[in-house]
Amino acid sequence: MIPTEFDYKRATSLDEAIQLLSSSSEAKLLAGGHSLIPLMKLRLSEPETLVDIGRIPDIKGIREREGKIGIGAGTTHHEVETSDLLREKAPVVADCAGEIGDPQVRNRGTLGGSLAHADPAADYPAVMLAIDAEFHIKGGNGWRTVKASDFFQDMFTVDLADDEIIVNAMFDPIQSASYAKLHQRASHYAIIGVAAALGVENGLIQWARLGLTGAIGYAVRMPNVEEALIGKQPEQDTIDAAAGIAGDGLEDINSDLHASAEYRRAMIKVFTRRALEGAVARL
Ligand SMILES: Cc1cc2nc3c(=O)[nH]c(=O)nc-3n(C[C@H](O)[C@H](O)[C@H](O)COP(=O)(O)OP(=O)(O)OC[C@H]3O[C@@H](n4cnc5c(N)ncnc54)[C@H](O)[C@@H]3O)c2cc1C
Repeated sequence: MIPTEFDYKRATSLDEAIQLLSSSSEAKLLAGGHSLIPLMKLRLSEPETLVDIGRIPDIKGIREREGKIGIGAGTTHHEVETSDLLREKAPVVADCAGEIGDPQVRNRGTLGGSLAHADPAADYPAVMLAIDAEFHIKGGNGWRTVKASDFFQDMFTVDLADDEIIVNAMFDPIQSASYAKLHQRASHYAIIGVAAALGVENGLIQWARLGLTGAIGYAVRMPNVEEALIGKQPEQDTIDAAAGIAGDGLEDINSDLHASAEYRRAMIKVFTRRALEGAVARL
């Protein structure tokens, strides 16, 4: 279908984008367009103005500063996938980007667009939860920082005001983390995706963070699995026991033409085990 008529404005700076966003209650940011444009074509989204942020240098690139890694929101999935810095310092993030869609999607789609859109089957949210990322956001009222664990609130619903832009995601370097995903064959969205990150000292797991996507309306942590891992040795019995309770107690599991709720529930355990095995292999 053809979208309804809209105005197109290209911002050249972050502040100009915020000013353009604030000047109309029906304005929307356009990044890679790979979620927004399909919605507009279906007329599920009918913005009056599109503010293109695709050429703002401040929101692009991957850097290390004061021991933290930062990925600009305008960085494409392909740039994340092929980043030498991420491959060295946080390989799980590059792995995740390489699992998204197909080459066209990865060449256009951006980290910020994926996080803001918060599709229930999107990949990055699970990984951002596991690596405990925080998002730097700028809007009409200035800057604020939101932790990934507070950002994803419901299906397509995040902690972001209409005049705010995600500028970057920041996190500590991490080796012992892995992402395991059951692909939907056509789109490659996650039927189930699990990201696991582990901290081990003196041979025992000190902390664990598990992010789950595809299971319910939005990405969540799995605290029961995390608790089951703490204080244990990172070995197969520990992984099997923790994966065995993954998804327990989770209500309103998604059910659609790709997978029933019962199948998804079973796959949460399988992919939690795989993600944990991947994280342990990187210790
Ligand atoms: C065929 C196909 C397959 C796909 N497969 C997968 C997959 O396997 N896994 C997966 O995770 N995703 C998948 N996607 C989605 C893809 O990753 C999109 O690129 C992503 O969801 C949106 O990013 P974008 O840059 O294209 O955002 P856009 O479509 O431009 O924008 C999406 C939304 O985010 C807002 N927005 C954009 N940037 C910002 C920002 N910096 N701050 C605040 N708001 C912002 C926009 O206003 C809009 O509401 C697929 C998409 C397609 C079309």
